[in-house]
Amino acid sequence: MFVTDSFRSTWVEVNLSFLRHNLSRIREHIGGKSVMAVVKADAYGHGAVEIAKFLEKENVNFFAVATLDEAIELREHGITSDILILGPVEERGMKELLVHDLVSTVISDSYARLLNEKAKMFGKSLRVHVKIDTGMGRLGIRYDEAKAILEEIAGWEGLRVEGMFSHFPSADVDREFSEEQIRRCVEVREYLPPYRRDAFFLHIANSEALWNVPSSYKDPFTHVRPGLSLYGVSSTSKELLPLMVFKTRIVQIKRLRRGETVSYLRQYTVQREREAIAVLPVGYADGVPTLGSGKYEVVIEGKRYPQVGRVCMDYMMVSLGESPGTLQEGTEVEIFGHSLPIGEFAAKSGRIPYEVMCGVSKRVPRVYKGA
Ligand SMILES: *Cc1c(COP(=O)(O)O)cnc(C)c1O
Repeated sequence: MFVTDSFRSTWVEVNLSFLRHNLSRIREHIGGKSVMAVVKADAYGHGAVEIAKFLEKENVNFFAVATLDEAIELREHGITSDILILGPVEERGMKELLVHDLVSTVISDSYARLLNEKAKMFGKSLRVHVKIDTGMGRLGIRYDEAKAILEEIAGWEGLRVEGMFSHFPSADVDREFSEEQIRRCVEVREYLPPYRRDAFFLHIANSEALWNVPSSYKDPFTHVRPGLSLYGVSSTSKELLPLMVFKTRIVQIKRLRRGETVSYLRQYTVQREREAIAVLPVGYADGVPTLGSGKYEVVIEGKRYPQVGRVCMDYMMVSLGESPGTLQEGTEVEIFGHSLPIGEFAAKSGRIPYEVMCGVSKRVPRVYKGA
């Protein structure tokens, strides 16, 4: 959770009415299927508690997170919906799965065995979804080794197998491979004893699959599992609205003369007679990597200005040209998100939008609007 009462003049604005918009675009698109909202990594930097609370009011009743800690945080802040943890949990945390009524992911037969034993030790059964590796090459039971394991665990007292899922490595660019993964996933589902099949959750679609792989949200799939599209960023869909806008205010404007330099290592030298340099109170400790130093642009009052010199921990500088015009100390500056697309900002430091969102650090307050 992020500080909302903050004295900083650098902040992230999170527009919740855009979240409502993106959710309804997704829902229209997938027909009668349900959304399991991915809110891992603090809802990609937007603040998991706020986002989940908002989505719960919009009748989303299943969330996915990466870690047990993330799931517990949601429970401790009053989220009562189902929560799936997408990966394995340390043995010492397994009791918490029961305490907080969490759904966990079976990634292998040995892990299933461990979960089963733990659950029986507490005299309970654990809710699980089985992860099938159909081509991601990451977590899960290989699709071609799943038959025996599924038939076996279906009968175990300590496990309640409520669902099964898989994940795409390249839904945005490789439709054919994604379709093959879907075939593998659907085939594996047949190995579960029939009485478990109704009221059984099957899901594979991440954000990009929604826009590029239609069979990923058709029967027999019951849920889709988007993250990025909820937050309004997509390389395919043009209908989404990005929630996150990163903003700051000019803290000082100064005039430098020809030959004078800006910031560490003196990488920027003033070429004209005089140049107005704006100091912005935002740096790499906030999520602007030094790797993009001198390449970023910012938007002030609708116009772009080049960032100059090396990005510091807490500050970076922008050239306003020969004269600052109407710009002054206190003027608002956009770093990315509205007039300057996050993808463009990301590329300056060789990153992807996911990384940028997750990389806006904890000391940057999130300000929610539009609820
Ligand atoms: C992060 C993640 C998602 C969401 O991916 P997006 O591309 O943000 O939609 C879905 N499923 C799994 C297993 C994930 O790890």
